[in-house]
Amino acid sequence: MSEAVKKKEISSRRLLKRLRDVMLQDISIQTKLDKIVYLVADELHTEVCSFYLLRPGDILELFATYGLSQDAVHETSLRMGEGLIGEIAVQKKPLSFPDAWHHPSFVFKPETGEKPFLSLMGVPVLQGSNLLGVLAVQTEEHYEYQEEEIEILETVAMLLAQILLSVEFKTAQNITIKTPKDMRARLEGVRLTSGMGLGHAYLHSRAERVTNLVSNNEAAELNKLNQALEHMDQELNTMLASPDISEENAEIFETYRMFTKDKGWIRKITDYIHTGLTAEAAVQKVGDDISERMKLMTDPYLKERVHDFQDLADRLQRHLSGKDIFSKNKDLPDDTILVAHSMGPAELLDYDRKKIKALVLEEGSPTMHVVIVAKSLNIPVVGGLKGITNRIVKGDVVAVDGDNGFIYINPIEDILKDFKNRIAQLEKIRRKYERLKNVPCQTLDGVPVSLNINAGLAMDMLALGDGFADGIGLYRTELPFLSTAQLPDTQKQIEIYKRALLNANGKPVVFRTLDVGSDKVLPYVQYREEENPAMGWRSIRITLDRRSLLRQQLRAFIRAVSGQDLYVMFPMVTDIDEFIAAKNTLQIELEREKEKGGILPSSIHVGTMLEVPSLLFQLRELLPLVDFVSVGTNDLSQFLFATDRSDPTIWERYDVLSSPMLRVLKYVADLCNEMNVPCSVCGEMAGKPLDAVALVALGFKRLSMNPSSLGAVKAAVLSMNMKEVQEYLLSILSSQSHSLREKLRLFAIDHDIVI
Ligand code: PEP
Ligand code: MG
Repeated sequence: MSEAVKKKEISSRRLLKRLRDVMLQDISIQTKLDKIVYLVADELHTEVCSFYLLRPGDILELFATYGLSQDAVHETSLRMGEGLIGEIAVQKKPLSFPDAWHHPSFVFKPETGEKPFLSLMGVPVLQGSNLLGVLAVQTEEHYEYQEEEIEILETVAMLLAQILLSVEFKTAQNITIKTPKDMRARLEGVRLTSGMGLGHAYLHSRAERVTNLVSNNEAAELNKLNQALEHMDQELNTMLASPDISEENAEIFETYRMFTKDKGWIRKITDYIHTGLTAEAAVQKVGDDISERMKLMTDPYLKERVHDFQDLADRLQRHLSGKDIFSKNKDLPDDTILVAHSMGPAELLDYDRKKIKALVLEEGSPTMHVVIVAKSLNIPVVGGLKGITNRIVKGDVVAVDGDNGFIYINPIEDILKDFKNRIAQLEKIRRKYERLKNVPCQTLDGVPVSLNINAGLAMDMLALGDGFADGIGLYRTELPFLSTAQLPDTQKQIEIYKRALLNANGKPVVFRTLDVGSDKVLPYVQYREEENPAMGWRSIRITLDRRSLLRQQLRAFIRAVSGQDLYVMFPMVTDIDEFIAAKNTLQIELEREKEKGGILPSSIHVGTMLEVPSLLFQLRELLPLVDFVSVGTNDLSQFLFATDRSDPTIWERYDVLSSPMLRVLKYVADLCNEMNVPCSVCGEMAGKPLDAVALVALGFKRLSMNPSSLGAVKAAVLSMNMKEVQEYLLSILSSQSHSLREKLRLFAIDHDIVI
């Protein structure tokens, strides 16, 4: 090790020791902060060290300084983005300016008595990714700060964060003292999984911020780290072996393995231990650094893996601190509304599932792993609620409406009553649906309707066992592809599809080939930047271009069905040519299998999804080539109305129960029925009772939906007279109304259709 580096390490150790002494003193927080800035300036040999606190309204207040005028403390402030301090706050990363005084962004505040200090280096004080303030040093000379000095200042910033988050400080500064009354609120978020939940808030915290920062026994810390890594590995093994973990969830947990085995990660932690930090503090420091870096990534897949990573870092930290991970279940209310900034999927599984009524997240997108897992556990999730972890306090009553994407905090009595009623009603309805299970699904006038499920996780398949569904109308194959770092090989795919078939227990499973691209980004496929990914290189466009991906998947289907019936469906087909190319690829794979002496499927059914409007205009020519058609109304309406399906503000502007969409659907059903090609609907429409009634009236006799919708749709079908609804629907189809929903709803109510 070079002399220079050794010297820094020694000074870092001494600084940490001196700081620890200050932390232990029974003095006011202001005095502590004053001492800390002095110590930093002293150890780093700078003329100035100042701490700016982030106040509500995005104001950075000079809170403590050594080197600037004491009269400026609590008087001088900067806005976010103002001056170099404001810049550090905005960027939330360390910045160093060897010649700050002449920097175009430099702002001179005369009350600070600032001399022309030439250099400035500052670091953000963070709690996770929340900014609490900025810590900065300045020197009179032009000076290039070294990496080690920046790291020392970052370590001090960690310590400051600990002080700022102490109850003592918050109380003294009157920061976020909330009363239930002023916290009553209705907050709009993003609906991530449906359902309703009412209960008491429990704030899922990332591992508590470390209080024990400094150690003078390096060997003991390294030893602690190694033991914790080992324990964590054992714990993940146990978790993976649990029968609760479905195949796809297991894939998700494998991502963790990548991190636990990452040598760079462990080396960085050990490096920090060498500088005098405890193992806990080192893990926290490296965790924060990596999280911040990952958040800056543009690749959405990698960006979202940050939660998995944080989960892992927290897990390791809990092992280090010896805190029992499962102890959090001890004070968990029976009706818990879990509130988190974000979460890894394993963290959700750490909680007692029976007690979790809903999950509320600051972040969140439907492809986040925790959301996928929550969905499979039937936990309603509302996300996109920025700042929610600061607004809600433990024990607050929270009502979550996952169907509409909003929450109430401490709702007034009327709303509370309304929620309780709705939840009780849902339960009553669920019990009522139970009774419909084995009743044949047909309309009052005897038209049989086949109900099927859309599945993608092994858990979805459980619904097949309860007697509601005739099969899997849409098996989304992309989930295992999205949750692993590498392409699942043929063998892995065969296992997954075999398992789906096994769970289906002889009922048909319609396998859809890979429908990725758009918002579903595969980590191992190179994408171009796209202005409009929903209309870009996605789905069958990718699999036809990367033919080996398609061939491998088709091969896996053939081998998985191994002599049973094979149903394959191609998504996003835009013209006949694409369908023929895809179908030919299947033919090639079938012949290959035959040559190799493999077992061929007993019957082969090749269908297309109808979700791109252009295909409507080739439908008559296409139908003789396909064995079935499934209308993907999610994408079809997106392209028909030119509205982005992932943008809730625009998506609901047009209604699928309107003349244009219903006419398209009528055309498809009529033509398929005329040409004797089975047709179904597998978009969201099929799972909404009123919409399903309209689809059946238009001539669709096969619907595929989320398992949770089966009961409601069945009740609607059983209570409708197909001919009557059809007559009415056709009579209003030429209406000029923006939507026919209300008319249809009133008709249904008048005719005792259960919607
Ligand atoms: C659809 O587009 O309607 C559909 C069922 O496919 P996905 O939602 O997976 O795009
Ligand atoms: Mg689609």
